[in-house]
Amino acid sequence: MAAKKTTSLERMLERVETLDAPTLAGLAQRLARERGLFERVFNVLQEGLLVVDSDGEIAYANAAAHRLLGLKPDDATAPTLWRVVPGLRASLAPALESANPVTRELALSYPEPRTVRLHLVPFEAEAARPRRFAIILSDITREKLDTDQRIESERVSSIVLLAAGVAHELGNPLNSLTIHLQVVERRLKKLRGLDKKDAAALSDSIRVCSDEVSRLDGIISNFLGAIRPSPPDLADTLLTEVLTEILSFQQRELADRGITVEVEGMDALPLVLADRNQLKQVFFNLIKNAAEAMAPGGQLVIRAGCYDDHVTLAFADNGSGIKPEDMARLFEPYHTTKPAGHGLGMMVVQRIMRAHGGLIGVESKTGQGTVVTLQFPQKHRRVKLLQ
Ligand code: ADP
Ligand code: MG
Repeated sequence: MAAKKTTSLERMLERVETLDAPTLAGLAQRLARERGLFERVFNVLQEGLLVVDSDGEIAYANAAAHRLLGLKPDDATAPTLWRVVPGLRASLAPALESANPVTRELALSYPEPRTVRLHLVPFEAEAARPRRFAIILSDITREKLDTDQRIESERVSSIVLLAAGVAHELGNPLNSLTIHLQVVERRLKKLRGLDKKDAAALSDSIRVCSDEVSRLDGIISNFLGAIRPSPPDLADTLLTEVLTEILSFQQRELADRGITVEVEGMDALPLVLADRNQLKQVFFNLIKNAAEAMAPGGQLVIRAGCYDDHVTLAFADNGSGIKPEDMARLFEPYHTTKPAGHGLGMMVVQRIMRAHGGLIGVESKTGQGTVVTLQFPQKHRRVKLLQ
């Protein structure tokens, strides 16, 4: 094995007791400079870095650790790490006794909600010193969110796939019911000797059955139409054009409900790559939801924004708003708060936006209104991503 190189600094430190005052002063300055360099390096790290002992006493924390844990700078009465992150000591207890590194995931709520991966590495034991540990904190909030979203969308698509299969299968018995009901109806007309009142009651029942069968049929085809996943057929698209088309299509319904629509900032919008028909579906669903949430006199403002790498369209209504407890279920299939709702509109919007590499954000205040913001990648940005 190669001999460990010693620096001139280390060689000087070895004979520190023989040094004169000026050399010592120079040495102290060099040490301070080196310490300063390391501090600067540690402070530009994205990861939080801490040195603690087994009592949780914090001997060192870099800038990122201060930020992540909300530690105050140079606090003489600094709390221990165990106080800053309640529950951490218990979770790390076995590791604090062993010499093996461990990893934990923490959900921090202060100073802001973050998910953090903590990696604890024990230092080699030093004689006559309490055991010390290096702790590395990585902010994995974004990563975690992406995973959660992926799991959620996988969960939804498996439910949807299953439901689509069932819905499809229901088509055949419904067909058969329709045919047999028609047969019964015809036979009934030919039957002689039947009391007139009985005949009327029977044909009424048959009509109710037929109506229910066609209602079921409607629900199923509605559902299949909404969920049939088709990859977007992307082409250069002017959002303004599609929006204008949909607004004129919905004009009648909006006017009947006494709702005015204002469109802002559409002039300078660049082209985006999108599937025109799917976009129409997105706009239609959002405008319909906004209209349904508002009373006569309500106003829908559709505002466009253009940024370096994305284009946004915000649909702001001053309707009923969404209750916080409903917010989490907004995109769930079949979640509806309307007596005759299907609860598929928002799921379809989300699915289409994802297929376009876009995002959807919702902000809402009960009693005040809702803003749904769509974000599309700029065309050049998409191309860059593909390369
Ligand atoms: P549906 O409209 O059939 O209920 P959606 O998936 O379109 O199904 O919407 C689901 C639910 O989300 C609605 O029932 C409603 O409670 C809520 N919602 C969606 N958009 C809005 C909005 N703009 N304002 C208030 N609530 C909304
Ligand atoms: Mg809807």
